[in-house]
Amino acid sequence: MKALHGIAASPGIGIGPVHIVDPEEVDVRDGDVRPEDVPAEEKRFRCAIERSLAEVRSLREKIALDTGEEEAKILDAQVAILEDPEVTSQTLQAIERDRKPAGFCYRKILSAAAARLEESDGEYYRGRAVDVRDVRRRVLAHLGGVKQRSLADLATPSLIVASDLPPSEMALLPRDKVVGLATDLGGRTSHTAIMARARGIPAVVGLKEAVRAAGEGMLALVDGSRGVAILDPDPETLAEHHLRQRRYEELKQNFATLKDQKSVTADGRPVGLGANLEVPEELPGILANGAEGIGLYRTEFFYLSRQTLPTEEAQFQAYRTIVEAMAPRPVIIRTLDVGGDKFASYLGTPIERNPFLGLRGLRFSLQRQEIFRTQLRAILRATAHGNVKMMFPMVVGLEEFRRARAVIERVRAQLAQEGIAMARRVPLGVMIETPASVFGIDLLASEADFVSVGTNDLIQYTLAVDRGNAAISSIYEPLHPSVLRAIHIVVEACRRRGLPVGVCGEMAGEPLYAVLLVGLGVTDLSVSPYLVPEIKTIIRACTYDEATHLAQRCLTLATPADVRHVVTEYMSRRFPEYFGA
Ligand code: PEP
Ligand code: MG
Repeated sequence: MKALHGIAASPGIGIGPVHIVDPEEVDVRDGDVRPEDVPAEEKRFRCAIERSLAEVRSLREKIALDTGEEEAKILDAQVAILEDPEVTSQTLQAIERDRKPAGFCYRKILSAAAARLEESDGEYYRGRAVDVRDVRRRVLAHLGGVKQRSLADLATPSLIVASDLPPSEMALLPRDKVVGLATDLGGRTSHTAIMARARGIPAVVGLKEAVRAAGEGMLALVDGSRGVAILDPDPETLAEHHLRQRRYEELKQNFATLKDQKSVTADGRPVGLGANLEVPEELPGILANGAEGIGLYRTEFFYLSRQTLPTEEAQFQAYRTIVEAMAPRPVIIRTLDVGGDKFASYLGTPIERNPFLGLRGLRFSLQRQEIFRTQLRAILRATAHGNVKMMFPMVVGLEEFRRARAVIERVRAQLAQEGIAMARRVPLGVMIETPASVFGIDLLASEADFVSVGTNDLIQYTLAVDRGNAAISSIYEPLHPSVLRAIHIVVEACRRRGLPVGVCGEMAGEPLYAVLLVGLGVTDLSVSPYLVPEIKTIIRACTYDEATHLAQRCLTLATPADVRHVVTEYMSRRFPEYFGA
């Protein structure tokens, strides 16, 4: 038995024999092309591109029909690569200049592009490398006449293990033949994860060594809620997961009935339950799972997914689509949060020794006000189309908040002068992500309209533990007494002022912590879309009274281990279907 830990990408338990999908590389001919054959080679290349385009377009139609327009849009990236005039002209030039076959030249050009994307820092870019490789494989198959293998013909229900799966393969996965998915690459917002969620396939991504460790036909399981894959499980582990699988299926039946139910404790206290959004592909999942709004729209992904600054109009259209789809539910648009681990070279984010302590979040926007103003214009224009709130990342003190608010006022005045429609009032929130903002919460709360605790960063800065450093991840502890105290301080200050206080970091979407956060007095949670039903089930089953008791008790404990013990013991007793042995 071997357990591998990755990223929980799509919930549920999948058990079955492994089918390994090799990133099959189509062989291409090297050799020289005679000068008189160059035109024919170029024609062959154009023909392969045309055929590939036709295939991708028909695949897109199929996905739109089977799964939905939003999922189908994922293939637009591949259409764009196939239509990219730069790639075409580079390939044609290479055929002429180097006198090499089309497949050889095309592979070289797209491989370099995929490698550049893979090396980039943003998860979004790395996701696009999958598209480039998929296009490359398709075009090369046409050039070499090699038929591509497809999972569409999978005979027995299997657990797919792959380095990564391109969107075209994901779309063709026969749902009844795929019990689960385990991939070495990918992150929460990679295409594989998005499509697995959209199709209800339990999935764990980012496992790093699943392909190497698994064997064809070997029994394996994935726990897509916990982010674990177990190869060759022992009988005890297998029985435990069969039981969990049955429980999860039962829970899912209940989830469907929950969609339109309110997120409110058993004794009637409402707990706002929104979803986090990074890319528009997540919108259908947000609506399907009954989120009450978007509690965190990470707008930076819009910037990170392109090579040049997005125009005001492009941003406005993106915000408007999301705001309209959610209306009348609220959408909290967070202004650009770059720096730290999120870079785009065209933004000119500096190379820093300590990027997490550097030009990050609101600091960047205040320094690069031309970028900030363009984004604010787009957001303010979107406020006319739904229920928009705005929030600033990485606020350290009141001065920054005031400066940001002053920029908004100037932009607003200018838009008004231009006769552009906007909401009369746009609530402004601050993210609490630093100890400084915790200690200064009374000051911030006196001027902000709402507060949202970004626990991902708050934990990192409070405990001085890099959130991305796997080597010290065991001390990145959400249940550390200092973290709980920080949240407590923030909640109490907001309570005194009657201000809503949310949590939008990953801690909010962790079912184990749900009762504790409610008990600490958090009024809103914003979580990954597919976790909404689970968190809602827990909120609806507990009383505010019992949650408060749990929180009060935890606040008296001395170590993370003590808190974890009490919370785990409590939650296993109250929710054996989730946390029981
Ligand atoms: C956080 O820090 O908790 C947060 C929600 O912001 P991000 O994860 O985008 O830094
Ligand atoms: Mg953050």
